[in-house]
Amino acid sequence: MASDPNCIFCKIVKGEIPSFKLYEDAATLAFMDINPVHDGHCLVIPKAHSANVFEIAPEDFAAAARTTAKLARAVKAAISCDGFNLMQANGEGAGQSVGHLHLHILPRKSGDGLLFNWDPKPGERDRIAAIAERIREFL
Ligand code: 5GP
Ligand code: ZN
Repeated sequence: MASDPNCIFCKIVKGEIPSFKLYEDAATLAFMDINPVHDGHCLVIPKAHSANVFEIAPEDFAAAARTTAKLARAVKAAISCDGFNLMQANGEGAGQSVGHLHLHILPRKSGDGLLFNWDPKPGERDRIAAIAERIREFL
C-alpha cells in the first residue's frame, strides 16, 4: 500500500503518531481532527497515500465515501448541531494544508460564520451550458 514517510496522515495510519481513532477498515481510517471547528469535527482518509482527488484510485475514493457516510451518521447521533458539511480540499488555493486526501465531516451551527458558505447567485445559462460542454469533453 502506498505510504509517504514524510506524510503526517500516513504516520497516523502506521500508528507512529497518536490520534483519536474512530473507525478503521482495510482501506480507510477515521479520526478526530486535532483543530476542531466544532465538537465532532473528524476526518476520513484512505489508508493508501495519495495527495488529492486527481491522484487517488477511484476504489480508494469510493471506500472513503462509504466510511464518510457511516461516520456522518454516528457523529450526527452523538452530538448536537444544526447541519453538516462534507468538505474535501484539493490544492493550496482550496485550503488544503495536509497533502494526503481527506474528507472533513464538519458539524455546523447556525450563524457560526464559517466562510465556506456563499450566497447563491443565478449564473448565466449560456455560460453554464458552455462550461458543461467543455467539461464533458474530458470525460
Ligand atoms: P485541510 O486544511 O488540508 O483541508 O485539513 C487538514 C486538517 O487536518 C485540519 O483540519 C487540521 O486540523 C488536521 N490536522 C493536521 N494535522 C493533524 C494531526 O496531526 N492530527 C489530526 N488528528 N489532525 C490534524
Ligand atoms: Zn499520506
